[in-house]
Formats: sequence, C-alpha cells, structure tokens
Amino acid sequence: MNRILDDISGEKEGPLVILVAGIHGNETVGIEAAKDIFRKIREKEVHLDGRLICILGNLQAIASNKRFLAYDLNRAWKEDYVNLVAEKADQLVHAEDRELRELHLTIDELLASDEHEEKILVDLHATSSDKGNFIIIPEAEADHPIVKALHLPVVIDMEKYLEGTLLNYYQYHGVISFAFEGGLIGSREAIELHESGIWEILDTAGMISHHDHEEVDHYEKKLRAISDSLPSKVKAFYRHWVEREDEFVMKPGYINFQKVEKGELLARDKYGPIFAPATGLIFMPLYQDSGNDGFFLVQELVREELVNLYQ
Ligand SMILES: [Zn+2]
Repeated sequence: MNRILDDISGEKEGPLVILVAGIHGNETVGIEAAKDIFRKIREKEVHLDGRLICILGNLQAIASNKRFLAYDLNRAWKEDYVNLVAEKADQLVHAEDRELRELHLTIDELLASDEHEEKILVDLHATSSDKGNFIIIPEAEADHPIVKALHLPVVIDMEKYLEGTLLNYYQYHGVISFAFEGGLIGSREAIELHESGIWEILDTAGMISHHDHEEVDHYEKKLRAISDSLPSKVKAFYRHWVEREDEFVMKPGYINFQKVEKGELLARDKYGPIFAPATGLIFMPLYQDSGNDGFFLVQELVREELVNLYQ
C-alpha cells in the first residue's frame, strides 16, 4: 500500500488541499470517497487550480481493518513525541511509530513548498454511531469559509479533551486543519457525504469552477438535508474518560447531539451505572470497543454565549 493514494496538480496556481484518510484504520470511507473524487476529476477532465493530494494515515491498521494496532495514531501528535519518533528511526517500538514518522515526513515535505498561499488539511473520519456528521476544529478557525460551506455541525473546544490529534498539531503549525466526520463506518452514505464535502471544499477554495461542476449543486442539497435538524455550532464541556479494563458499555439507542438531562443513565462499567453529570447534548457515544474517549457532553452555542466568548 502506498502512503500517497493519489495526487493531482492543476496547470494553474491555487491552494494545496491535503486529505488524510484512514488515520483510524477501520475508517476507510474517506479512502473510498477520495478514490471516487480523483477518478471523476480525471474522467470529467475537471481543471483544478492548485493541488489535491490524498495521504493514507495508518497503513498497517488499514491493512488489518483495525482502528489502531499498538496505539491510537490520532492521539500521538504531541510535539515531544513527534520529535522523538523523528530522531529514533531505528529504535521505534510500536507499529504506529513508523506510521507517525512517515506521515509526519510526508506532510511536512508538502507544507515546506512555497508554491501555495493557502494550505488546508482535511482529516477524514467515520464514526460508529448514527448522526456522525460533523466538523472538529479549534474555535479560532471555526468560522473559516470552507468550514461554513460544509453546512455540518461544528464542534469546538475538543482540543481541551483530546490531546495529540493530527489536526491540532498542524493547526499549531499554521495550517487550516479540521476533522471531517462523514458518518457511519462502512456506509455508502458516509462515502457520499465525504465526497460531497470534498467537492464543496474544492469549490469554496476556488480550485474548481462552480459552473463547470454539477456535482457541487447536487451535493450542497444533500449536505443541507442531513444537517438541517442538527445544531450548527457546539462547544465540548465534559468528557467521560474510559480505560480498557473499565468494561464500559454505552446504553444503546443514543445518537450524536441528542439532549440528555443531568442524572440520566448513559452507560455502565464495572464500577456501576454512569449518569450524565450535567444537562447537555451527548456527543460521539462509544459504540466501538477500542479507544478511551467514552462520551462527551457538548452545549449548543447560542447568540449570547457567542458574544461573551468573543469579548
Ligand atoms: Zn476516526
């Protein structure tokens, strides 16, 4: 398996869009979506202004259809650890060390080029729960035109709870970076949503001509239909952390952004029932058996709160 899935540079100058697909090896919908996009760009002879490249995340985990082998590759992007792995090529212990090292080198090499004024990194994910369509981005970039054009719920403040994500690492290094969650793992809908979103990104970045591309109109409607009943921007304020030995099981039936009341039974583990510590919207229920994230509570940002935040 090649680290670079595909790569097209247009004849004219323009932004660099880096798609990262499969940083979680079982979330392959982003890979399928990217393949479709590149195929259509070639088939329909779409003229790109700028460069679109798709890089595969965790090759070894993709090959075994697992989220990760030794550790979660999307929790390892901490400055010290990235530097350590870069220096100690021969002594790398875990499967993910090699992935981290290669991915870091590949992306840094792309970013070092001064050909592109605008550089955008889109980290494609899928989830194990319904209503899994959303954007994760630090608050400072939450109103970026590309993010707004996706018409999906935007989740801010996740970096307070999730350390070492790829998006935060590159955001810190000056690249517009966000996670784009396309929906249910393995579903056709998630592939289509990712595909539609990528067309939107190319259109909003000015890399394709809107008039030349019926795909954009078609998909805009689809995106709006999906996100109509969802909040437009939410802020994370609580995470229930899970250890593997906790035997954590989420109560079935929850979907993302569903309202929960303080004291509501949400999950169980070997220590007993787990109740909602506050009223809010539940986010990313863990209906999967690996990872430490448990569940989050988020709150919808209303106008007054937004004003306060920006003061
Ligand atoms: Zn993921």
